[in-house]
Amino acid sequence: MMMTRERLVQIQNAVADTKLQNAVYSATARLKEKRQEVVEELPEYQELRTHAAALKKHALENLDHYLEQFEANVIAHGGKVVWARDGDEAAGFILDIARQRGVKMVVKSKSMVTEEIHLNQRLEEHGIEAVETDLGEYIQQLAKEPPFHIIAPACHKTRQDIAEIFRKGLNTECGDEPEQQAGLARRVLREKFLEAGIGISGANFLVADSGALLIVENEGNARLCTTAPKIHIAVTGIEKIIPRAQDLAVFLKLLARSATGQLLTVYTSLLGGPRRPGDVDGPEEFYVVLMDNGRSRLLADKEKRESLNCIRCGACLNACPVYRKIGGHNYPWTYSGPIGAIITPQYKGVLQDPWLPFASSLCGACAEVCPVKIDIPKILLDLRRDVVAERTQASSNRLEKWAFQGYSWLMRHPRLYALAGRLGAIGAKLPFATRIGPAAKWGQVREVPMPASESFRAQWRKRKAAK
Ligand code: SF4
Repeated sequence: MMMTRERLVQIQNAVADTKLQNAVYSATARLKEKRQEVVEELPEYQELRTHAAALKKHALENLDHYLEQFEANVIAHGGKVVWARDGDEAAGFILDIARQRGVKMVVKSKSMVTEEIHLNQRLEEHGIEAVETDLGEYIQQLAKEPPFHIIAPACHKTRQDIAEIFRKGLNTECGDEPEQQAGLARRVLREKFLEAGIGISGANFLVADSGALLIVENEGNARLCTTAPKIHIAVTGIEKIIPRAQDLAVFLKLLARSATGQLLTVYTSLLGGPRRPGDVDGPEEFYVVLMDNGRSRLLADKEKRESLNCIRCGACLNACPVYRKIGGHNYPWTYSGPIGAIITPQYKGVLQDPWLPFASSLCGACAEVCPVKIDIPKILLDLRRDVVAERTQASSNRLEKWAFQGYSWLMRHPRLYALAGRLGAIGAKLPFATRIGPAAKWGQVREVPMPASESFRAQWRKRKAAK
C-alpha cells in the first residue's frame, strides 16, 4: 500500500540514524525489561488482564449509562461536564473560559487527548500561552516537536540533546546531568504554576459511581496543575470511563507495571470536584471536557470496538519491532506504535494512510503485553481487509478495474499471456518505464527489479527438453 515519498524518506532517515536507533532501542528495552520483571512477580497477572478486559467491555457496552452517572456525580460535587464533539468544541469551551476570566497562561499536565486536538496551537493562536509541565513533554515543547512515545515523550533524546534544547529554549546554560536539567525545569515551571490562571490535565480513568477522575504520574506536576490554578479543566476521551471506584484496584495493578515497570506510580490522585469549604487547596472551578472526536463511530463497530479498551500504557510500543525501528514521529497521527496503527485508521478513515495497517509483521508481541488484552494483530488484519474493500469501492479509477478484468482474461489465454510476459519484460527494461503514466506514482517509491534474462516458461521448457 502506497505511502508518500516524503514519509518513506523520513523513515529511511530514521532507520539510518544510529544515534536515534540507539536511544530508542535502549529506552524501550529498559521499559520492556522492567515491565517483564514486575509482571513475573505478580502471580495473578493473567487473571487481572482478563478481569480488566471484561470491565472495559462492560463499560463500553453501557457507555451512555456510565457517562450520565459520571456527569450526575460531577454536578453533585460542584463541577461541570462539557460534552465536546471534536477539537473545535473542546478548544472553544476552554477559550471562552479563558476570555471570561482574563486568563493569559495555562499550565498543562500530560494529556494525549489535547495532543490529538492540537490544543496548545489553538490556544496560542488566541494569545494564550500553554506550558507543558511533564518534563518529557516540556522538553518536546521547547524542541517544537510532538511527543515521541505515549509515556516517555522525549525518550529519543540524549542528555546532550536535552542540554542543548534547554540552552536554546530557555536561553541559559545547562549541564548534561539529568539532575541539573530536572532542577532547571523545576525552577522555571514553579513560576508558571503560580502565574497560570487555568490548569489543564487529562485523566487516566473516569469513575462513574463517584464522579471522580484519576490521574497517575511520577513528577507531581499533574497535582500542581490541578490544584494551584483557580480553574481546573480535565480534557479526556469518553472511553476512559470505568463503573466503580473498586475497579481501580484491577487497573492500577496493571497500568504502572505495564507502563514503567513500577508497582504504582509516585502520585495517584483522585480528583472529585472544586475546593469545598474547609479545604486547604484545590481549584475554585472544576470542569471535565468529555471528548468524542470519532470515538462513538469506533464504538459502533462491534468487531473493532475493543480498540477503545486502551489504557495508554505504551507497553505495545516497547514490544513492537516496527516502532523500535522507525520511532514515534513516523506514524501519521498522535498515537504511534501498534495502538496507533489500529486507532488512527479508525478515527481518520482507512484511506487516509492506507499503508498503516500493513506496517506490521503481525508477530503478536503487542497483544502479548497488552494489559487489557486488545487483539491488535486481528484488528490489523480486519483493517487491511477494510482498506482493500474501501479502495475497491471508492475507486473511481475505471482503469484499475479494467486492468484487473483484462488480467483475468489474459490468465485464461496462455499463449497471449506468454506473449504479454515477453513484451512486459522488454518494457520493464526501458529506463522510462516507471516514470510515465500511471506507473510514475507507483515507481516513485519502488525500485523496480530487472526481469530475469530468461522467463520461467522458457527455463521450464528447456528443463523438460533436457530430460
Ligand atoms: S494497546 Fe494495550 S499495550 Fe498498547 S498502549 Fe493500549 S493498553 Fe497499552
